[in-house]
Amino acid sequence: MVIMNQEIRRLYARIETLEKENNILANDNSPKYNIFSRSNDGILIFDCLERIVDVNPSFAESLKMDKQHLIGRSLSDFVPKNWHFKIEKQREILKKKESVRGILPIYNGRTIIEFDFTTSILNEGGLYMCILRDVTSKRLLERKVKKNEELYADLFTEALDGIIFWRGNGEIIDANEAACRIFECTHDELLNKKIKDFVYEKSERYKSIVKEMFVKGSIRDELVFLMPNGQFKSLEFTVKLNSVEGYHMTIFRNVSERHAMEKSLRESEQKFRMIFEGALEGILLWNNQFEIVDINQSGQRMLQMTKKELIGVSLHSILNDCNITEDELKEQIKNIHSAGQSDGNLSFTLKSGRKKFFEFSNKLNIFSNISMTTFKDVTEKLEMEEQLRKSDTLNVIGELAAGIAHEIRNPMTALKGFIQLLEDSVKEDHTMYFNVITTELSRIDSIINEFLILAKPQAVKFVEKDISQIMKETVDLLSAQAVLHNVQFRTYYEKNLPNVFCESNQMKKVFINIIKNAIEVMPKGGYITVSIRKDLDNKVHIFIRDEGTGIPAHKIKKLGEPFYTTKERGTGLGLMVTYKIIEEHKGTIEVESKLGEGTVFHIYLPYVLKAGMK
Ligand code: ADP
Ligand code: MG
Repeated sequence: MVIMNQEIRRLYARIETLEKENNILANDNSPKYNIFSRSNDGILIFDCLERIVDVNPSFAESLKMDKQHLIGRSLSDFVPKNWHFKIEKQREILKKKESVRGILPIYNGRTIIEFDFTTSILNEGGLYMCILRDVTSKRLLERKVKKNEELYADLFTEALDGIIFWRGNGEIIDANEAACRIFECTHDELLNKKIKDFVYEKSERYKSIVKEMFVKGSIRDELVFLMPNGQFKSLEFTVKLNSVEGYHMTIFRNVSERHAMEKSLRESEQKFRMIFEGALEGILLWNNQFEIVDINQSGQRMLQMTKKELIGVSLHSILNDCNITEDELKEQIKNIHSAGQSDGNLSFTLKSGRKKFFEFSNKLNIFSNISMTTFKDVTEKLEMEEQLRKSDTLNVIGELAAGIAHEIRNPMTALKGFIQLLEDSVKEDHTMYFNVITTELSRIDSIINEFLILAKPQAVKFVEKDISQIMKETVDLLSAQAVLHNVQFRTYYEKNLPNVFCESNQMKKVFINIIKNAIEVMPKGGYITVSIRKDLDNKVHIFIRDEGTGIPAHKIKKLGEPFYTTKERGTGLGLMVTYKIIEEHKGTIEVESKLGEGTVFHIYLPYVLKAGMK
């Protein structure tokens, strides 16, 4: 009994109808043969030993082999070894059933071709018929699809960004691990929730985002979300409506960290700004093309130019205003390129025409192609050095003067003595002459004494003294003279003043010199105000004000110069001595004056720090 499986019967039926329709093959070929030879599917007949008995042209064609090479060979010769089990399985099944179907790879010596096969018993003589269909490309496609699906699944689960799929009603139907992490929820907790449940503020902005999303079908934006654990997170998201199988997709990224980073960046930029702008030194930043990119406030002040005027300007054009020679400039550039830094001095003429001296130092590439020049205005320092040099000359003069003074003093004593003798012995009344001689002599004396103060070294003994006590004594001493000039004193002494380390006679001399000058500039009388109080920086502040003529501004700096006087009979030595004494006491003097209103002398002296005092 020939039992054919349904497939074959159907095949037969189809081909038979075809044949009937176009009668082409009505000749000697039996219908069976026609089916066999004309079928698109491969047909292979094998015996009970699995030896190939016959193959149809289609099968030979699909293997690109000759029929002759196939017949008589064993089936297993064409099946890769690891697939032999398939043949065995087929054998097993055929023992019990009439047909078997499955997939079988067949190797033609070059490539493996995959076939879908159906094997059925052909006749009782132990022949089997196997119908094969080449499914290699179909399988390939299937595999590709599967791979894509796997890839997609991998992407979904492994993605660092949170991915959420949701229904039209907003319900979440799937979320990847990253999404669970972002929303601080388990997968189950996320399901059936809605994304909008997590939105912190359903503000106008939120509403407009939703609206735009529905209009455009997709959107990318950022919102603050509140997580179930109370955490706030800034999330950047991309929504795509109807992205997969009608579901909507939203991809989330936590940007809180980025925001925090941006914040700390901003803060460190602020810090830099504060230091940059607060620095006392001028700081100039420039790029590789020597163009100025930034300058701080001190720098602008020193150069008397604004940031606006300077940014983008080439350093060379600035250097043109500087008195720096070509050679010096070359040397600088050489240094900066070899050592990455250089320093030096130069002078720069300001817009106002004033020439300023600067000390500078360059550092190459302090960060991303930006180099830095720091500079300091040393004009005052240089001026001070000049002054110091002058005062050194003053010291030399002082020393010389001391020598001369001694030489003059001795003959002076003799002169004074003999004048007295003469006065007593002369009969006629020459009182007036004698008076002139004595006052002039005492004037010489006082000049010599003042000179001597300048001499070095001086036998001075510094002791802790209450400075207000010294001032009181001085004021008492001068009160008689003050009354003569119609001048009155107003004094304020702070209580419990700290002591000052000083030589009291010298201090007295300072006060006498200043107060005498004050009396002398008030011919019509007035008040001299004296006050002593504790000041900042561990200093005592002594304040002496008169209501005299005042000193023109440009003359103030002449005070203290030897022999500077505006008085007919002045010596111009009083203030010089005063400045010198204060300097020796590590103090400072400042003069403030207004023409026609008066003058104030401020003296600052360091006081003695006692334990526990501040
Ligand atoms: P002298 O008093 O002998 O002139 P000083 O050194 O004491 O010398 O003073 C120098 C000059 O400073 C004075 O001649 C005067 O021009 C000016 N001067 C000092 N003190 C005052 C003052 N209180 N008011 C105005 N001018 C002053
Ligand atoms: Mg004087």
